[in-house]
Amino acid sequence: MAGIYIHIPFCRQACHYCDFHFSTNRQIESDMITAFEREMELRSEYIGNEEIDTIYLGGGTPSILNIQSLERIFSKINHLFTVTSVAEITLEANPDDLTKEKLLMIKNVGINRLSLGVQTFDDSLLRYLNRAHNSTQALAGFEQARAAGFSNISVDLMYAIPGQTLNGFKKDIEQVLSLNPEHLSAYCLTIEERTAFGHWLKKNMLQPVADEQAADYLELLMDALEASGYEQYEISNFAKPGYYSQHNSSYWKQVTYLGIGPGAHSYNRTSRQANISNNYRYVKSVFAGKIPAETEYLTREEKINEYILTTLRTRWGLDTAKLKADFDFDLIQKNKALLTCLTHNRLAELTNGVIRLTRSGKLLADKIAADFFEVPS
Ligand code: SF4
Repeated sequence: MAGIYIHIPFCRQACHYCDFHFSTNRQIESDMITAFEREMELRSEYIGNEEIDTIYLGGGTPSILNIQSLERIFSKINHLFTVTSVAEITLEANPDDLTKEKLLMIKNVGINRLSLGVQTFDDSLLRYLNRAHNSTQALAGFEQARAAGFSNISVDLMYAIPGQTLNGFKKDIEQVLSLNPEHLSAYCLTIEERTAFGHWLKKNMLQPVADEQAADYLELLMDALEASGYEQYEISNFAKPGYYSQHNSSYWKQVTYLGIGPGAHSYNRTSRQANISNNYRYVKSVFAGKIPAETEYLTREEKINEYILTTLRTRWGLDTAKLKADFDFDLIQKNKALLTCLTHNRLAELTNGVIRLTRSGKLLADKIAADFFEVPS
């Protein structure tokens, strides 16, 4: 069981909040696809003989690619790897890229799940975020995807945007629910330094939403989604039963994955590898037969802390027996007082050695995880 992630490093325009790796210069798009093919050939051994059960095209904006590029990518994957017949194959799509014809072609190359970057249905907020689409395109994109036969669609929403109101977010949620997607991811806007918003913040041109207010948005979301039959399987991710994202889950369950493309990360249970986040240098290096990547070997403490941070956010919780077995780390023994405090204040529950956050605890998830972190002795 393993995954492939392909990073498509192109976008039509730069969203004001985004610090992912992308370029709006698409001159080397064709070379980039050739470099993907070469990188897959050079690194096909990375996941050994494991079968591929998730493929994820993220970015950047994967839906910006033409169909010939997508066909080349999938032809190479199918030539080099064994993809299971039930594999989840996701493409991140921006609404402004979608037409009926393109969606049918996307489906024909084998993509069976769409992740639609809606963010909000409020046109003035979409402009503020510098998104390339409007709400009419978002609604049409979803409907066309359904008409093209996609039966597994995820919608991305964003909350705690400066200028957004709780009532406005409530309307966004109602609009999403009326579309009836199988999956919803909702992210709290964070202001990253090297973005337009980060620049505005430094110049006092932007007032970020306070943490307490952001928690109000999350509570509103949890109430509405739960009442509509969605399961919150991770703090930012909700799904109808049977539609949890296999790609997301494999990150949290620490499954091996191969990351292809500039800025992509790979993981093989002992180390992480990060490809260079520069389109030209990536292509040049791969064409010369060299993978432009740095390998990072995690320390024991880093592995423990990563396990704590990721699992506490999920509905499966933090399994202290696994920490003991894998790292000889007795979290319960080391954090008796903290655990008593969390359970007493109904922020967490401890059952059979598994710690799960309660509804109130989820609002403080990252802080609680940090309190459990192991520091090097
Ligand atoms: S489309 Fe996505 S990747 Fe591109 S700039 Fe906007 S948020 Fe970032």
